[in-house]
Amino acid sequence: MSYSSSSIIDSHCHLVFSNFNEDREVVAERWRSQGVKALLHACVEPSEIPAIKSIADQFKEIRYSVGVHPLDVHHWKPETINILKKAALDDSRVVAIGELGLDLFKAENLSEQLSILMPQLNLAFELNLPVIVHCRDAAKEMLEVFSKLAKDDCCPKGVMHCWSGRVQEMRQFLDLGFYISFSGNVTFKNAIDIHECAKEVPPSKFLVETDSPFLSPVPHRGERNEPSYVKHVVEKISELRGESFSEIAEKTTQNARELFALP
Ligand SMILES: [Zn+2]
Repeated sequence: MSYSSSSIIDSHCHLVFSNFNEDREVVAERWRSQGVKALLHACVEPSEIPAIKSIADQFKEIRYSVGVHPLDVHHWKPETINILKKAALDDSRVVAIGELGLDLFKAENLSEQLSILMPQLNLAFELNLPVIVHCRDAAKEMLEVFSKLAKDDCCPKGVMHCWSGRVQEMRQFLDLGFYISFSGNVTFKNAIDIHECAKEVPPSKFLVETDSPFLSPVPHRGERNEPSYVKHVVEKISELRGESFSEIAEKTTQNARELFALP
């Protein structure tokens, strides 16, 4: 079955990683044949930026973010915030700051993570760019940060990427204006909480992504993930919500375009 008549946006991928070095062109042919019309390339630390930029030169449908991932705190230097700001101002294809956030699943250095998170959130607000939020086992801490900023009217807009939380947490992020992005883990059979979230999320507030090369969806589990597989995420959500494939593709494309300046 071909879905090329629907247009889909992969709102989060990492094609800069070396496991795409051999076949990036072929991977692009596959996403084009599956209707992926735009992609948002995420960044985990600033030394990636030149390579991401040249990938965006090569594939016109790519936009990208700049930022430092919470598990990359060791890459943060005093000048990093200025590097991010300059990169964002220099290229109109930079449509977000991130990925940034908190990860208390793989690390315990909360205060260090917060110290690189806050300047990035402030930068996003200053530049009026949305943020791409990585939040793992840290919903409570992340909500505290956003609530405080919201109280002072300086919380950026953004998306909770690779959503893996509970419905109650999702509602709180939605209340703060955040979008929710579903990735390959929504296709996993035992992902009950994520399924509940996909059913309940309002139609105007969710996106789809692959997070390639990580977290391949069923039926590609264990393989390298790639943007064309985003169709399996759309497929699963359409099954969960009882809506057609093209309805989900259309809604998530519209939502992604609304949040980010995407082609
Ligand atoms: Zn990512």
